[in-house]
Amino acid sequence: MTEENLNPFQIVQQQISDAGKYLGLDSAIEEILKEPKRVLEVTFPVRMDDGTIKVFKGIRSQHNDAIGPCKGGVRYHPDVTVDEVKALSMWMTFKCGVVGLPYGGGKGGVICNPKELSQGELQRISRGYVEAIASIIGPDKDIPAPDVYTNAQIMAWMMDAFSRLQGSNQFGVVTGKPIIVGGSLGRDKATAQGCVFVVIKAAEKLGINLNGATVAIQGYGNAGSQAAFLLNKLGCKIVGLSDSQGGIYNPDGIDLDKVYEHKSRTRSCVNFPGSQSISNAELLELPVDILIPAALENQITANNAARVKAKIVAEAANGPTTPEASRILYANGTTVIPDILANAGGVTVSYFEWVQNLMNYYWSEEEVFEKLRTIMYNAFDNVYAASQQHQVDLRTAAFIVSISRIAEAIKVRGHV
Ligand code: GLU
Repeated sequence: MTEENLNPFQIVQQQISDAGKYLGLDSAIEEILKEPKRVLEVTFPVRMDDGTIKVFKGIRSQHNDAIGPCKGGVRYHPDVTVDEVKALSMWMTFKCGVVGLPYGGGKGGVICNPKELSQGELQRISRGYVEAIASIIGPDKDIPAPDVYTNAQIMAWMMDAFSRLQGSNQFGVVTGKPIIVGGSLGRDKATAQGCVFVVIKAAEKLGINLNGATVAIQGYGNAGSQAAFLLNKLGCKIVGLSDSQGGIYNPDGIDLDKVYEHKSRTRSCVNFPGSQSISNAELLELPVDILIPAALENQITANNAARVKAKIVAEAANGPTTPEASRILYANGTTVIPDILANAGGVTVSYFEWVQNLMNYYWSEEEVFEKLRTIMYNAFDNVYAASQQHQVDLRTAAFIVSISRIAEAIKVRGHV
């Protein structure tokens, strides 16, 4: 086993240095980018269903706002750490930069286990968290959104809590809301749709025909399940799926309607009739054309990267591949579409949602996806061109494209 640094905060710092070398990045700008501008840690009491009070811990990290307000999701997970949230906020800055959104990066987290919480408890936690961070968020300051184990209902509670504090509706404070309270059509499918747009571009470059291509997806959550559905519509065969309980494999293809029904009933895709049970680790090594890690960080590491057989790895998750694993995959000729590009569809449609909230005029789903397609295709082309120009992998190229934009804003504002 290789000892590798898996701290996501240090990983993103290394990614900045790696790309900075090609840009001749000003050392003051590098220093600015390597730390968040502001990190707020809060505790807040919540009444549980049994009448007891439990004190929860929350974090909001605001990395950089040189180009616009901070933007990024809130994660509910028992293992959330400050370093993880800081790293995720930094990836948000670079994600917004790579697709050219007028945002910087932010991220939040609450240490809790949503699987053990009732809807009432989740609502009180969401309101408590927003009240605790209210002074630093707002439509022109920092705009939270869904992330791991948070959803449209939670966003509605957060928007309502903030609106009550302000004394007026503030739909633009949070994105990923239900349609009836200012959500955007297409936001629920946006991360997956954006990922599929860049997979189409990568497949084109590599001469892979998506019709009949095989796919494995780690993480059958929002992004993973929607990506499975969209790729299947393009003719791909989904042969492997997994969630936190484990995975399933069927080389003849998994029936997505049936597995959806099975997961709704049993709360997991494991033990799906007609499929072979596999572990999450085995899923990553399946003989497929396309692998989509859509779960958590540090899944493809120095220990398993050499056994990844996919030709395209599209990172729907944030930070699923370590720097050492990225090097191994690049050397083996695997095309990795990095997280800050592959999953940028979510924040892009969040941006559309925020724009619609600010102007109170709403678009059709077709308009949303048309605009998303243009942004994702352009972003892919820019990143691909940078990778050719500098002879680097797509991740380094994506950081190069993004950092050069942010650096320009920092300079022109006179911060350095
Ligand atoms: N949590 C998503 C991400 O990591 C979406 C963020 C947003 O929509 O602001 O990109």
